[in-house]
Amino acid sequence: MKKEITEMIRILASTILMVVSLFCSCEAFAQSVPSPYQLIERQKQGNQRYLTSDQVIERLKQGNQRYLTGLSEHKRIDVERRVETAKYGQKPLTTILGCSDSRVPPEIVFDQGFAEVFVVRVAGNVSGEDQLASIEYGTAYLGTPVLLVLGHSKCGAVEAAILDEKLLGSLPCLIGKIHPAVKKVQERYQRHPELKQDMFVDECVKENVWNTIEEIFRKSPIIAERVRKNELKVVGAVREIKTGKVEWLGEHPEQGRFLSQAIK
Ligand SMILES: [Zn+2]
Repeated sequence: MKKEITEMIRILASTILMVVSLFCSCEAFAQSVPSPYQLIERQKQGNQRYLTSDQVIERLKQGNQRYLTGLSEHKRIDVERRVETAKYGQKPLTTILGCSDSRVPPEIVFDQGFAEVFVVRVAGNVSGEDQLASIEYGTAYLGTPVLLVLGHSKCGAVEAAILDEKLLGSLPCLIGKIHPAVKKVQERYQRHPELKQDMFVDECVKENVWNTIEEIFRKSPIIAERVRKNELKVVGAVREIKTGKVEWLGEHPEQGRFLSQAIK
């Protein structure tokens, strides 16, 4: 009799335990199921993430075209977007390394909304350690399929590197990162006297973009690996200050060599 009572208590206890665990798992399940609103929002964000590198670049080109023609939409900078991005976090499409020059704000130049571009700005769009870390965060952690290095005409930092005058404070360290680009262009001009002298500064600006891209590949195995896996496209561009037009340079002509030399 005592044995039967013990068995009954054991069965009762296991039944209670089973009911409690079932209830708990239902609760957890209910919490993990997104509301219809959440589903719509996730889908919207999901669509953004499924854009290819080329589609993202096309979006930037279209945004710059709208800006050039005075038809900027200024979309996705409203309260709704602010609340949405605060709730779900940022899912930017492009990481941009651009110059700090106050005349070239990327969000406006490309007519982009909140949480669409992850922007790193530094005079002369050079890639020091902190900039590189920020770029790696944008591309590897936030997963943007495009990294754009954006230079611009009449860049004061590039002009300072060309003049090579004595500079104050911490500036020599930053400008020193632009010197290799200037040196390359100077050598090119010595070899080819027929090159137009009035294009010299513009050529240095362009070469500085290429030089920054080369530095990024040289110093960041993370970025090189993402490019190898076709998860990321690294492109350069130069914005003309007067017209606002962005000249797209595309991928570095020697990208293949950088990838083969990159640390694995
Ligand atoms: Zn600049």
